[in-house]
Amino acid sequence: MSIMVPSKTPALITPGRQALDSALQQLDQAAEHLGLNDGLRTLLATPRRSLTVSVPVRREDGRLDVVQGFRVQHNVSRGPAKGGLRYHPGTDIHEVTALAMWMTWKCALAGIPYGGAKGGVAVDPAGLTTLELERLTRRYVNEILPLIGPEKDIPAPDVGTDEQTMAWIMDTYSVNAGYSVPGVVTGKPMTLGGSLGRTGSTARGVQITALAALGRSPAGVTVAVQGFGKVGALAAQYLADVGCKVVAVSDATGAVYSGGGLDIARLRGWAAESGGVRGYRLADALTHEDLFELDVDVLVPAALEGVITEANAARIRARLIVEGANGPTTPEADEILAANGTAVVPDILANAGGVIVSYLEWVQNMQSFSWGSGEVELKLRDLMLGAFAEVTTLAAERGLTLRQAAHVIGVGRVAETHRLRGLYP
Ligand code: NAD
Repeated sequence: MSIMVPSKTPALITPGRQALDSALQQLDQAAEHLGLNDGLRTLLATPRRSLTVSVPVRREDGRLDVVQGFRVQHNVSRGPAKGGLRYHPGTDIHEVTALAMWMTWKCALAGIPYGGAKGGVAVDPAGLTTLELERLTRRYVNEILPLIGPEKDIPAPDVGTDEQTMAWIMDTYSVNAGYSVPGVVTGKPMTLGGSLGRTGSTARGVQITALAALGRSPAGVTVAVQGFGKVGALAAQYLADVGCKVVAVSDATGAVYSGGGLDIARLRGWAAESGGVRGYRLADALTHEDLFELDVDVLVPAALEGVITEANAARIRARLIVEGANGPTTPEADEILAANGTAVVPDILANAGGVIVSYLEWVQNMQSFSWGSGEVELKLRDLMLGAFAEVTTLAAERGLTLRQAAHVIGVGRVAETHRLRGLYP
């Protein structure tokens, strides 16, 4: 039996629904390869817990807004649920469920003892003041309070949230508990128990897997990066630092191109000052669509889901795609890319650096101890390269794409946990 992917009535297909369809198709393929029975397939296709909440926010002018928030725990068989919190106007329960499911496979693939979760609030953070964002965050946390905790479910930053958001979550949870609980979130400021190396960890993992997949000197390798936020800007920086030529980047404000290579440190300064890459004078303007079609060695999507689809996949000329974002490539696009010989380092492998260092942060919190940056970096590198080697070996042995191999390993480990634990009652 294959997992039911609901029929596509155009009016009902939100980007979130598309992301969930992609996640279910990927699970279905892996389950087929692993020969999982129908019951287990259905269990793995279904979130363990989903909570939708209404979050009232008192605006500074006195108005009351009510926004929707979500927290989904997809699977907790291997350990506490773990996953980021997204603030984005387009987020919905389907998107959050897909992101939670990918977290389950990602943690299993990385070999860290977590299940998968995700949170989201359907709001544009740019439209709120700092005080309004704090009120929103504290109220959202209060609504999902029964679900989270250092041994239950541990949020972290994602699109539209940051260290400050995590500090508010840590404080709200701690005030309710009556004592400080740093291990309830990761990606916190250092002063509150954050880990050295967490800020750049997802981007560092993108760099590590990109270099491993390239298998040659990075000097002069051309790169285009979509998304210039926490993941994309630092991925561009770290790739430039080792000699790659980052020729194009984009963010929500626009895209810029320089054939000779962009000065990423300078561009980050410009984006921080002006609110985005648009208008950067030391490069040419580019359309969002053209960035995907540049003749580059490496393309790093690091924004949102569903940006490489059957509509543009055939025009992609990059030899290698390294997915900083979660779910940027649809299954239909995957088939076109595979047929064209484009290698894709999949999201659950390429961007696992973030959850790996989140895990290291949590371990330090649980022991009330902190490690030096060298130790964190070494552990991150070991876990990333270990997972990379397992995926590439399985792909070569069984004639799978890297995504298929990564899912077979991740889904297989979770399935094995269910088999060993059995069913209660
Ligand atoms: P962020 O909010 O810091 O940055 C998102 C970036 O994408 C911004 O620069 C935004 O302007 C840009 N963007 C939005 N729409 C765009 C568009 N249409 N075209 C081009 N750029 C666009 O978020 P982030 O934390 O960097 O997350 C980016 C991706 O990485 C997401 O898919 C997220 O789930 C994934 N991810 C993040 C982490 C993490 O540690 N933050 C870990 C793993 C995966």
